[in-house]
Amino acid sequence: MKTGEQRRTIVLQGIGVSPGVAIGVAHLIRRVDAPISRYQLPDRSLIAEEIRRFRKALKDSESQLLEIKRKFRDQQEGLETLYILDVHIMILKDKMLYKQTVQNIEDRGINAEWALRMTVDRYREVFSKVEDDYLRERVSDVEYAGQRILRNLAGVHHETISGIGENAVIIGRDLSPADTMQMKVEKIQGFATEMGGKTSHTAIVARAYEIPAVVGIEKITAEARTGDIIIVDGTAGAVIVNPDPEIIRRYEEKKRHYETIEDSLLKNARKTATTLDKHRVLMGANIEFTEEIASAVKHGADGIGLYRTEFIYINRDRLPTEEEHFCTYKKVVESRGIRWSTIRTFDLGGDKFISDARLAPEMNPVMGLRAIRFCLQEVDLFKGQLRAILRASAYGKTKVLFPMISGMEELRETKRIFEEVKKELKRDGIPYGKDVKMGIMIEVPSAVIIADDLAREVDFFSIGTNDLIQYTLAIDRVNERVSYLYEPLHPAVLKLIHRVVEAGHRAGIEVSICGEMAGEPVYTMILLGLGLDELSMNALVIPRIKKLIRSITIKECRKLVNRVMTFNTASEIEFFVRDCMRRKFKDDLQGH
Ligand code: PEP
Ligand code: MG
Repeated sequence: MKTGEQRRTIVLQGIGVSPGVAIGVAHLIRRVDAPISRYQLPDRSLIAEEIRRFRKALKDSESQLLEIKRKFRDQQEGLETLYILDVHIMILKDKMLYKQTVQNIEDRGINAEWALRMTVDRYREVFSKVEDDYLRERVSDVEYAGQRILRNLAGVHHETISGIGENAVIIGRDLSPADTMQMKVEKIQGFATEMGGKTSHTAIVARAYEIPAVVGIEKITAEARTGDIIIVDGTAGAVIVNPDPEIIRRYEEKKRHYETIEDSLLKNARKTATTLDKHRVLMGANIEFTEEIASAVKHGADGIGLYRTEFIYINRDRLPTEEEHFCTYKKVVESRGIRWSTIRTFDLGGDKFISDARLAPEMNPVMGLRAIRFCLQEVDLFKGQLRAILRASAYGKTKVLFPMISGMEELRETKRIFEEVKKELKRDGIPYGKDVKMGIMIEVPSAVIIADDLAREVDFFSIGTNDLIQYTLAIDRVNERVSYLYEPLHPAVLKLIHRVVEAGHRAGIEVSICGEMAGEPVYTMILLGLGLDELSMNALVIPRIKKLIRSITIKECRKLVNRVMTFNTASEIEFFVRDCMRRKFKDDLQGH
């Protein structure tokens, strides 16, 4: 192992996307991107040859990806990464990609590399306008696929990743799924990349393997060299290149501390979240992919509190069939170790997710034809999904959740369609669960205002604070320029949550919360004090929040809420709550 003693220590900040501490040896991935030659074909008679060359590069790329998939399928079956490879194969087969590139060659008389680059740039332009973070980041899939074709055009066939030593921390601009699949995961301690966000491939893969990762670190590939000692703190979002021995010692301690806590948390993860005064809180896991269910069970989820089904539509140019929907939902509801599955009907909107003419671009997609509004216009699409959910409900306890309900008419129309689908299934002799609960997301302020009326029409409420905060405070939830105003503890937000819980309980229905707020330990006491029955969150934080719940009383949570409701600014509340939590948990919220 080369020590980095002679080089200076550099601390870089990024976004922590997979928690934990890694200390290892940097392994820099520099993808030998084929240089792009751009030239005009000297003679139009060469056009046919150029198209043939492009076609061959496409074919070679596909064979390579199929080969990688074949090699890894047995070991990693079911992993998200395999699915992502399929997405890349789909991109290679995309008619648009082919047609557009061939047209560029023909119309402009240019070489295949240049023509392909123009096509990929066009995709990038389209993706950059997409509101949704996850989808915007998917442009990297098109880039990866494009790079592979370019390498094949240049006759570079070899893969770039080999010889990763023990204890490696992988550094790169971004890592393609093919990159990660070819690594021996057990040798990898951590990931640190320049690109990416919470939903990038690196983040998904890192969380799936529980490897600490930090993304979005400017200049990491310029600052780190292969062989450098490197620390990745996925919890704090920090990376330290060439740490001095004292820093290494401190981080070794932090790593030990983290692992001990994680171990003890995991050991107790299946215990219920019951307060000292015997108040039971249900714990749900939010999932986007079926692959996350195993982690939800391991981390002690009682049920799936939110399955965001719109992720099924990602990267597809054709709609999934009812059968595909059914198989996915069946897999979710019959999973062992969870007591129920809350399947949210798709929250598609604007021009997101599928290249289908029905989804026209909008000026303001979050307030546009989104979620239930879109479903009520595309009834066949909606009914297909509902049929699949109901069919799956025969295999396990299922709750159906409708997003973005803003008024009674919308709800009644939704229920009418839901009942119609049930009738059709009955008529056709197709079985479905007899006790499927039907609930709505409360995430639009108007729904809060009429919550009493809505509560009489449904079996449960699930509060979506991500959107509720956005619409109440008029703060775009993905705009970093106004993120300082995105305040979950704003008195208005707390009052809305309180109102929903009261309305729900008056009508005798359960109220859960599935926005990001539910997974933040600092807010747990407030949420319990407000009376929520279920908290649904990213599975990784469940053990920590369960432990916290087991060490408090519901009585003190209510007292805290009573006090908090007397404040009229978010910062006073934040200060008061943090101070209270710190005193109670002795500066060790990390441990909870
Ligand atoms: C929410 O709005 O809080 C929510 C859980 O839904 P999503 O984040 O999918 O909009
Ligand atoms: Mg929402």
